Formats: sequence, structure tokens, C-alpha cells
Amino acid sequence: MPEKVIIIGSGPAAWTAAIYAARAELAPLVLEGAISEDNRLAGTLPLGQLALTTEIENFPGFPNGDLTAYLASAMPPEKKAMLPPHGGHGPSGPELMELMRQQAVNFGTPIVTEDVTGVDFRRHPFSLQASDNRTYDALAVIVATGARANYLGLPSEQQFKNRGVSACAVCDGALPRFRNRPLAVIGGGDSAVEEANYLSRFASKVYLVHRRHELRASKIMAERLLANPKVEVLWNRVAQEVLGNDRDGVTGVRLASTAGQPLLELEISGFFAAVGHTPNTAFLEGQLEMTDKKYIRWTSPPRTLTSVEGVFAAGDVADAMYRQAVTAAGSGCMAALDAERWLAEKGIS
Ligand code: NDP
Repeated sequence: MPEKVIIIGSGPAAWTAAIYAARAELAPLVLEGAISEDNRLAGTLPLGQLALTTEIENFPGFPNGDLTAYLASAMPPEKKAMLPPHGGHGPSGPELMELMRQQAVNFGTPIVTEDVTGVDFRRHPFSLQASDNRTYDALAVIVATGARANYLGLPSEQQFKNRGVSACAVCDGALPRFRNRPLAVIGGGDSAVEEANYLSRFASKVYLVHRRHELRASKIMAERLLANPKVEVLWNRVAQEVLGNDRDGVTGVRLASTAGQPLLELEISGFFAAVGHTPNTAFLEGQLEMTDKKYIRWTSPPRTLTSVEGVFAAGDVADAMYRQAVTAAGSGCMAALDAERWLAEKGIS
């Protein structure tokens, strides 16, 4: 028997879709991804990008406060024991994600900790191949596999991740270590420009480091950046090495020139990579319509329908614009409602 609904992914979109689909008695199965070294290196472990961040200050409903007692009562002790120590400042990324997963579990959602390696959406029921070499069949599928932030790939960048190196200014920018300190943002697109402007609220100064002499960002956003007195653009520069030490984390960056200038060292306490995101859609190649950047295309926005009837997409995998936990959760809810309605219309649930 095929599953009624399979949800692929394990970020806010996937768990919200699971909670809604489970409460609609669709008995969704979640394929949350495998715990593997490949996924660790790629930043695609179960629980997604949020599990890679520290404090979460902007998810509504979780103001700053000591959640120790709540976490102890909301989660089984063995789960709670696996989480990093709680800082007493609202939930951390891993805590928020475990809470969402637990909420889906509480509604009886079965979870398979495997990757989906390929799909066949040309037949119905749809067929999904998983990394356990099993095939899973489903009447409806919600794809919520998210995206991964691109880093430059420097070993020093890896060394200082979460200790001054970040790929998410909105997630991390307001942390104490970045306040009233000089920071650098790498990139020249809308993300870099937006992140530099955002960080300038907290930082003493923001360097925007771009490898060319012209921004890729949209004109209006670029103009806003260039008018910002706290931002200095360093043209024709690429990051060669993030500098730092075990005690302080990031303390600086060494920049090479793409225009024949000498090396330049900056004193900074934060290094923000804003060199684009890659949606996790490789396993869908040829099966769903995608944008030129390989995000799944919503064919009737704002609904979560895709080019294949019965397949829905939610969260960052279909969103190159907002990329927030709360927007992902919202579209996960939308996808579950869309799937529920579609199954009912077809009379196949
Ligand atoms: P983009 O692909 O638009 O830009 C990536 C930037 O990173 C480019 O400037 C690129 O340089 C630079 N870059 C890429 N790789 C490297 C590297 N290895 N070393 C140095 N620099 C590198 O990605 P974004 O995330 O900025 O934007 C993605 C999409 O989201 C876009 O369509 C954008 O418009 C949209 N967006 C919209 C926003 C808004 O409207 N508020 C906010 C954020 C994103 P180069 O220019 O030389 O290629």
C-alpha cells in the first residue's frame, strides 16, 4: 500500500507539514535525511540549516527566557540529553528543531532517517528511492529539503564556523560577539548587500568584500548600501584566509586582490559569507520544473503546487527570497493543506 503523503526533509517546513498532515489524519511519513559524514560536510544533516545556528531570537513565541523546565517536559530525556547545553536565552537552533520534530512525533508521525536519492514522479503512486535501498510509494509528496548556504570553501572558514564565521547575518548578526565590532561580508549580490546593511545596525563598521568592481545586487539595494556611512566596499578583493585563534574565534581576514594590488589584512570579529545558496534539489533533476537557480518552481503561487500534480514544495527549496524559519514553517502548513485538498478532490485519500 502506498503512503498517503510522504514529506521529504526535516526543517521547519517539513515538520510543520507533518504536524498539519498528521492532524488531518493523513498519516504522513517523513524521510528526514541520513546522518552521514557526506551530509555533515555539505551542511545537510537532518533538522536542516536551523540546527547549524546558535540562538534563535526571531521565531515568534520564544522570547528570551529560561526554557530549561519546558524543554525537560516537552522532550524525552534521551533526546534532551543529546542537545548542546542550554544557554538560558530562549531556544537554540537545535532545540527549536527538536521541539518541532517532537511535535510531529507526538501526532504519531513515523520518521525514516534516510536520504531520498531519486524519485519517479512520472508514475502514480509516486515512487521514491532512499539511501537504505528501499523504495517508498506515495499518493502525494511534499518536498521540503531546504537549501544550503554556500561558503567559499576555505579551511580557515570551516575552522571558525559558529565562532565568528557565519553564512546567515539575520540569524547571527545581533549576537554579542558582533556588536560594536568591525565585520566583513563576502559577496556582491542582493544577499550580501542586504546582510551588510542589516549588520551595520550592530557593527561598528562593515566591510563588503566583492571580487569584481561592480555589484550584482539590484540597483536600489546597491544604492542603499553605497549610501550607508558604516559600510566600506572593498572592490576587486577575495578572501584568502580567515584569521583567528581558539580563544577569540575570528580576529581578522586576509584579502587577495583580483586587480594586482598587494594583500590586505583587516581586523574583524565576524566573517559573513553571502555567496549564494544552493537548493537541495539534485535528486529531483528532470522530475520537477525548476528555476534557473534550481529552486522548485511554484506553478500557481502563492499555492505550493509544482509542475507535477500531487507534488508540493515548501520552505527554502522553493524560496530564493525570504529564507526564514517562520516563512518556511508557514509554507509547510500551506503544502499540507494543499495536499489534503488535492487528495480529497481526487477522492484518493
Ligand atoms: P547571487 O548568486 O545573486 O550572488 C552571489 C554573490 O556572491 C555574487 O556577487 C558573486 O560574485 C559572489 N560570489 C559567488 N561565489 C563567490 C566566490 N567563490 N568568491 C567570491 N564571491 C563569490 O546570490 P544571492 O544569495 O545574493 O541572491 C540569490 C537570489 O535571491 C537572487 O535572485 C537575489 O536577487 C535574491 N535575493 C533578493 C533579496 C531581496 O530582494 N531582498 C535579498 C536576497 C536575495 P559575482 O557577482 O562576481 O558573480
